[in-house]
Amino acid sequence: MKLIDLINKDVKAENESKKVMVALRVLYLIVAVAFLLDMILVGGHNFRIYWRGFCGFYAALIILFIYTYYSKTRISLWLFLLYVFSWSLYMIPKVGWSAGMQNFFILVLLMVFFGSYAGLGVKLILAAIVLAARVVVILTLGGVKPVGEISWLTDKLLQIVNISAVFSAIIYVSYTFSKAEKEHEGKLVEYNDRLRKEAYTDQLTGLYNRRRAKDYLADLNDSDTVSTISLAIGDIDFFKKVNDTYGHDSGDEVLKKMAEIMTASMRSNTFIARWGGEEFLIVFPDCNGDEAHIALERLRRTIQNTTITVGGQQINVTMTFGLAEYDYSGDFEKSIKAADDNLYRGKENGRNQVVY
Ligand code: GH3
Ligand code: MG
Ligand code: MG
Repeated sequence: MKLIDLINKDVKAENESKKVMVALRVLYLIVAVAFLLDMILVGGHNFRIYWRGFCGFYAALIILFIYTYYSKTRISLWLFLLYVFSWSLYMIPKVGWSAGMQNFFILVLLMVFFGSYAGLGVKLILAAIVLAARVVVILTLGGVKPVGEISWLTDKLLQIVNISAVFSAIIYVSYTFSKAEKEHEGKLVEYNDRLRKEAYTDQLTGLYNRRRAKDYLADLNDSDTVSTISLAIGDIDFFKKVNDTYGHDSGDEVLKKMAEIMTASMRSNTFIARWGGEEFLIVFPDCNGDEAHIALERLRRTIQNTTITVGGQQINVTMTFGLAEYDYSGDFEKSIKAADDNLYRGKENGRNQVVY
C-alpha cells in the first residue's frame, strides 16, 4: 500500500470527519520525521542518555498513528495534542531550550482551532490554556541547558529541523482547512442558487411560476430602463375536455407542449410564466399593445396549427389571449385585471382569439 493511501484510508467509525483524521496522520508523519532527525543529531555518545525516552515516545507515536484507523476523531485529536505536548515537555530539558522544542506548542494551538469541532468559546479557553502552559514552560524551563553534550552546530541543526517541522505542519493545516472552507462555501452558494431556481420554477412546464412572475413585475415597475410594457394572459380552450377525453397525464403533456411553443415563438426578453392551472402570463417589456398583439396573434396561429401527439393520440388545442398595456400606475394588478377581462371577453366571443 502506498503512503498516500495509508494516509487517506477511511476511518472505521461512520459519520466521522475524514479530513481531521487525515490531517492528524500527516502531522504524525511530520512529527515522526522531525523526532527521528532530532535523535540522529543528538545521538552518538549521547545516545545512552536519550534512547529510553526516544524509544518510548516513538513506540507511542506508532501506536497512536495506527489508532487513527480505529478511534473517533475527537479522541485521536486529543491524543495527538497530548502527545506533542508531552514530547516537547520531555525534550526541552534533555536537549536544551535553544533546540526549539517549545515551538511544537504552536501546533497544539493550531489544531485546537482547526481540528476540533468545539464552539468558539471552548476553543478560546483551550487556546488560553495552551498560552498559560507555554508561559509556565518558559518560566520553569526557559534557557535550560542540555543534559548531553550538544555542539554549537548540532544545536543549530536541531533548531532548523524543529522549526521546519512546525512550519510545514502549519502550512499543511492552513492549506487543507482553508481549501475545505472554500469548497464548502462554493457548495453552499450552488445549493442556494438551486433552491432559488426551484422556488421560482414551475415543476411541470419548467416555466417561471406565479411567485417569480410577481417578483418580476415588481422589479420591472422599479426599473427605469423599459419604456412601454404590455402583458397578456393566455388560457387553453376547453382544457377540461382534453383531460376528460385523453386523461390527466395527456393533459400534462399538452401543458408542457404549450410552454415549449410559447418559449420558442416569443422574443428572448419576453417573460413567460405559468400563472395558474392552464393559464399563462406573458409580459412584453419595451413593447406597446399593438406590437404585442401581432406577436400573440402569430403565437395563437402556431398553436392552432400544431398537432400534439401523446401516447399515439393526436390532440389539437387552441388558446385565447387577453392583452393590456401597463399604464405605469404602479399597480400591475390593475393591468392584469384588464387583461383578464379581455380574456373573458374572448372566451365569450367563441375562443381561439386575441382580445386587446
Ligand atoms: P375554457 O375554454 O373556458 O377555459 O374551458 P376550460 O375547460 O379550459 O376551463 P376550466 O377552467 O373549466 O378547466 C380548466 C381545467 O384545467 C380544469 C383542470 O382540471 C385543468 N387543469 C388545471 N391544471 C392542470 C394540470 O396541471 N394538469 C392537467 N392535466 N390539467 C389541469
Ligand atoms: Mg382557466
Ligand atoms: Mg381554459
